[in-house]
Amino acid sequence: MASMSFLEFFHKGGKKTFRPKKKFEPGTLRYSLHKQAVASLGSGINLRDVVKLPPGEDLMDWIAVHVVDFFNRINLIYGTVCDHCTEDTCPRMSGGHKYEYLWADGVKYKKPVPLPAPRYIALLMDWIESQINNEAIFPTKNDIPFPKQFIPTCKKILARLFRVFVHVYIHHFDRLLTIGAEAHCNTCYKHFYYFVNHFDLVSQKEFEPLTELTRRICETKPSNELSFK
Ligand SMILES: [Zn+2]
Repeated sequence: MASMSFLEFFHKGGKKTFRPKKKFEPGTLRYSLHKQAVASLGSGINLRDVVKLPPGEDLMDWIAVHVVDFFNRINLIYGTVCDHCTEDTCPRMSGGHKYEYLWADGVKYKKPVPLPAPRYIALLMDWIESQINNEAIFPTKNDIPFPKQFIPTCKKILARLFRVFVHVYIHHFDRLLTIGAEAHCNTCYKHFYYFVNHFDLVSQKEFEPLTELTRRICETKPSNELSFK
């Protein structure tokens, strides 16, 4: 595996991830916002600034494109470690000994239940996919307003996505190092962290399992920012 570059692995990982990327329709406002958000992730940028709402843009659209982009990117990151995340290696969805996440979706799993990490993450990704593909929550037409449950749903999606970072960093960090994905993952984490904090979308309590890591990689000076590429 050492002979395979991170990019090769990442593309391989991307192909075998269990779901296609959610895409924005070209020609729509959200598509151009998505392009704008991605283009701003060039080298030497300050991630603290790029998360801010550009003047004249709609906050709901800005949040929608970021939620979908983070879903796609975190899904890819998990795809790069998922061969090493099995029911044997990870019988619980945990972040070390101190944190364990129980799954409940209010439909099939009414009461919170412990699950193996790969099962939990598969359910989590399925659930997010069903939310972002639900026109009643994430309307794709420019003239249809976002519903009242849009922000609460985004908060829930982002809090759940954060748990994937927790599990990957705490249980599969050596794998990230082996394939050279650490810097990429850190940049995605940092971008996510600045974004959810700027708009107050994830409660501070959720960050507890990664307090140390957050201090190390998110509280650096802008000149130390990692490039996205
Ligand atoms: Zn695992």
